[in-house]
Amino acid sequence: MTHYDVVINGGGMAGAVLALGLSSLSRAGGQPLRIAVIEHASPSLDHHSGFDARSIALAGHSRELLEQLGLWSLLDDLATPINAIQVTDQGHLGQLNLSATDYRLPALGYVVELHPVGLRLYQQLQHNPHIDLLCPAKIHTWLQHSSQVQLTLQDGRVLSTQLLVGADGSHSVVASQLKLERRQFDYQQSAIIANVQTQLPHQGRAFERFTAQGPLALLPMSAGRSSLVWCVSPARAGELMSLDEPSFMLALQQEFGYRLGKITRSGQRSCYPLHLNEVRRPWHHRVVLIGNAAHLLHPIAGQGFNLGLRDVAALIAALKQEVSQGGRVSDLGAHAVLSDYGQSRLADQAELVGMTSALALLFSNRDPLLATGRNLGLMTIAACTSLKSKLAWRAMGKR
Ligand SMILES: Cc1cc2nc3c(=O)[nH]c(=O)nc-3n(C[C@H](O)[C@H](O)[C@H](O)COP(=O)(O)OP(=O)(O)OC[C@H]3O[C@@H](n4cnc5c(N)ncnc54)[C@H](O)[C@@H]3O)c2cc1C
Repeated sequence: MTHYDVVINGGGMAGAVLALGLSSLSRAGGQPLRIAVIEHASPSLDHHSGFDARSIALAGHSRELLEQLGLWSLLDDLATPINAIQVTDQGHLGQLNLSATDYRLPALGYVVELHPVGLRLYQQLQHNPHIDLLCPAKIHTWLQHSSQVQLTLQDGRVLSTQLLVGADGSHSVVASQLKLERRQFDYQQSAIIANVQTQLPHQGRAFERFTAQGPLALLPMSAGRSSLVWCVSPARAGELMSLDEPSFMLALQQEFGYRLGKITRSGQRSCYPLHLNEVRRPWHHRVVLIGNAAHLLHPIAGQGFNLGLRDVAALIAALKQEVSQGGRVSDLGAHAVLSDYGQSRLADQAELVGMTSALALLFSNRDPLLATGRNLGLMTIAACTSLKSKLAWRAMGKR
């Protein structure tokens, strides 16, 4: 049996960043933590569930957190800055424009492609002397004992740990064994993603457009491309996925308009059914859930990993405090440590779940009264500097 201070199940964005962040901590006396990451698929695979063709927007605050963890330098050259955000509602005048220069910031956020990010993070995991990357590997069974968690992997290896972290995404096997109370909701929407090339340069501009078919976002990315996230009904998603490239570009052009000129290319499309999946109290005896294992959000506001990264940063801070306690042997899975950490995350999680669900429902509804109210809302925010600042502050990931 091999003992680790922390075992992380799942090496996607949340699990990999957590492992790398924890690897610089040491126990009182200077002994570094021993960490294992159990991951069932290498990111070099074409269809990796955590590091696929998706691009995600990182809020400015997420950059700060990654800097504090010493990881931003790893991603810097993969990140495209968002200089401005334009929010519009199809068929209405209301419009909101946020610009980094108005807030004297280098950028409102950054867009990264998950596949190359995954390859970089894996290289780091593989070469870190304090981390054992067990990949491909899967948990067969695990048991919570009073002073440790014991895990048997499918290949027969046996591990023990003070703390098991479930970072294994929205179908978390760790979460499902715990049978914690959760809130689930089917948004009756699917998100289509694709990388598109446009006639006009994006100049770092991100667009969020509310259309009759659902919200549509174009995020600026490398090589002049923009990353599309288009949320539509499952039936419409099926139709859009089956179109050939010219017909898909035509459909997109009709909804997005000519803000970036003609859409000249559209790459491979992927489709994600959208659900809310929230674990109310994502911790248990010697086990904690982070990232999508704890909360799967609607992508409308691009906040899923930004929230997951705040879980990671808060967990590292809680564990750092525990290992730096003098005068007693630290216990990283102690009830007090996990419950303090868990309680500290509840408000942020509840706020984001509420905000993204409300936006998804409000901006996908074509009721004329709601559409008018929404438009007035956009115009009011546009005209009111303090409301606009609040929104910009939230978009940057600050509370
Ligand atoms: C269309 C779309 C757009 C998005 N846009 C944004 C955005 O702009 N900004 C943002 O912040 N977020 C965005 N998100 C959300 C973001 O992508 C996720 O929140 C984030 O990638 C989740 O990371 P994770 O590590 O928590 O989970 P996952 O990415 O699901 O990683 C889980 C990991 O666990 C592994 N795993 C699973 N099961 C097992 C098992 N049994 N054993 C071992 N390993 C296992 C998987 O292989 C994977 O590596 C978007 C999501 C979608 C769908």
